[in-house]
Amino acid sequence: MTTINPKSERHPCFNKDAKGSYGRVHLPVAPRCNIQCNFCNRRYDCVNESRPGVTSAVLAPAQAARYMDRVLEKEPRISVVGIAGPGDPMANQEETLETIRRLHEKHPDLLFCLSSNGLALEEKLDELAASGVSHITVTVNAVDPAIGEKIYGWVRDGKVVYRGREGAELLLSRQLAAIRKAKSLGMIVKINTILIPGVNDAHVEDIAITMKELGVDILNVLPIKPVAGTPFGDLEEPSGELLRTVRAAVEKHLPLMRHCRRCRADAVGLLDNDRSGEFSSCLKECSS
Ligand code: SF4
Ligand code: SF4
Repeated sequence: MTTINPKSERHPCFNKDAKGSYGRVHLPVAPRCNIQCNFCNRRYDCVNESRPGVTSAVLAPAQAARYMDRVLEKEPRISVVGIAGPGDPMANQEETLETIRRLHEKHPDLLFCLSSNGLALEEKLDELAASGVSHITVTVNAVDPAIGEKIYGWVRDGKVVYRGREGAELLLSRQLAAIRKAKSLGMIVKINTILIPGVNDAHVEDIAITMKELGVDILNVLPIKPVAGTPFGDLEEPSGELLRTVRAAVEKHLPLMRHCRRCRADAVGLLDNDRSGEFSSCLKECSS
């Protein structure tokens, strides 16, 4: 049985038992990204679409604070504020930090959570921790740059764009440093790994082993959902059997998250009762 860290008691993603009574809101304040994953297309937005990277509107920090007031009025079960896109929160550091600071000041009882590819995360972890962020998710799809280079089209550090092996090496080294530092700051760390058949399926256990060594708390294996128009658009989704095999291999090393709902970047409500459709007009109003 997995022991739940007391910090995660009210976090429905890190504590499955909380998912019926506590909810989360994702504030879409981070439109830009600093890498290109070969499975991602953030341009596609559709209210019927439920996956990370999708949002009905993007908010500025002051707008996010206003929106949050309205969300809490109608959905008081929200216990977690997460920033998960639609790009990468750390490719929008100012907006992300300002949003968290404002909201933490106003709602110190809420938990704050961030989901990032890890490229530009380590440099801001002290500030994030000081602003109340207790839970971090880093998406790690490879711990071997020879595999990583097949997954990432490019990686942008400041004004320099790296491709191929060089980009994958840079991303991996930053991810490892960020995870190490987050753990040293006492944060709860989850890893998301996208399972990509024929690319990293035989490698996910190695990811779990490396993450365990770093003290990671939990790992979430998400089967790729190929999106048309992306380099991985023609891949097949992993079979149920492959997913089960990979998850069993991960579970030998780390607790596994099994209840992820692959939420949109503007998700609101309980994990099993997402209300982003209902809040969509309120989100749009707050964004204008
Ligand atoms: Fe898309 Fe996220 Fe990858 Fe950026 S890090 S390209 S937003 S999946
Ligand atoms: Fe939780 Fe998964 Fe939704 Fe993130 S995408 S809020 S981890 S259920």
